[in-house]
Amino acid sequence: MAKQIRVKCPACGEIVDLTRTGPCPKCGKKVEARAAGTLVLYRPRDASGSVSSYGVYLNGTPYGKIESRDVLSFPLPFGSYKVHVVCGMNRKCNDPVVTLSEAEPVVCLEVRIKMGFIQNSFILERIDRADLPEQKA
Ligand SMILES: [Zn+2]
Repeated sequence: MAKQIRVKCPACGEIVDLTRTGPCPKCGKKVEARAAGTLVLYRPRDASGSVSSYGVYLNGTPYGKIESRDVLSFPLPFGSYKVHVVCGMNRKCNDPVVTLSEAEPVVCLEVRIKMGFIQNSFILERIDRADLPEQKA
């Protein structure tokens, strides 16, 4: 089980996973993991057994990949974010828009793939924080 905090370097745009501490590996600028809100994406093991990486986009901006059984935390300022997931030819997604606010600073989404006839599609569903798998602190 990989639990990571994912941020976008404000200086150069590099996607940085803060499983380690330290500055952006690309430009050396300090990367801040604190933000008002947090979006959590959880990808359970696929029913199909797929272990492909899925590309994650927030408001159209690439935010790296999510692997099977990952739990990724994205510290973000309050606001609305359209969440989009792609994998190869599978570009259909229900594209939910989540709003991080004072009232709800943390939103958790579960990422599932739905098998289709022509192509598969991604279904992102809100889940309770308590429904996330057990995590090491
Ligand atoms: Zn950077």
